[in-house]
Amino acid sequence: MTETRTAACLFCRIVHGEIPSRTAYEDDEVIVFHDIHPAAPVHLLIVPRRHLESLIDAEPADQALLGKMLLLAPRLAREQGATDGFRVVINNGTGGGQEVFHLHVHVLGGPRPWRSMSVGR
Ligand code: AMP
Ligand code: ZN
Repeated sequence: MTETRTAACLFCRIVHGEIPSRTAYEDDEVIVFHDIHPAAPVHLLIVPRRHLESLIDAEPADQALLGKMLLLAPRLAREQGATDGFRVVINNGTGGGQEVFHLHVHVLGGPRPWRSMSVGR
C-alpha cells in the first residue's frame, strides 16, 4: 500500500518517528499509541500509517484497513487492562469534534471514573 504523508500533520510525524509516542502496537499499516491526554485509564489511538483525514475521505478501497483497525480494538483494550469492555470513538470533521485531521480510532476503557463521557469537543 502506498504511504503518503502531510508534512504538517501531527500523526504523520508520529508515524515517522519525528515526535515520540508511547506505542502499544505497530505493523506495516497501523500504529497504536497512548493518547497524550487520556480521558480514561486506558486511552489508545489506532492510527493508519497512511494519511487519511477522516472517515469522510474513506473509500471502498479502505474497507480492509478500517476493518482491521476495529478488530484491533478489543485485542489491544484487553492487553492494556480494559478487561470488562471498552468504548470506541471516531470524531470526523470539525462538526464531529475532530482536532487532529488524520483518522484515528479512540479506544477507551479501564476503571471509572473517566475524565469525560466522550472525547473531543
Ligand atoms: P480528536 O479530537 O478525535 O481529533 O482527538 C485527537 C486526540 O489526539 C486527542 O485526544 C489528543 O489528546 C490526542 N493527541 C494530541 N497530540 C498527541 C500526541 N502528541 N500524542 C498522543 N496523543 C495526542
Ligand atoms: Zn497525517
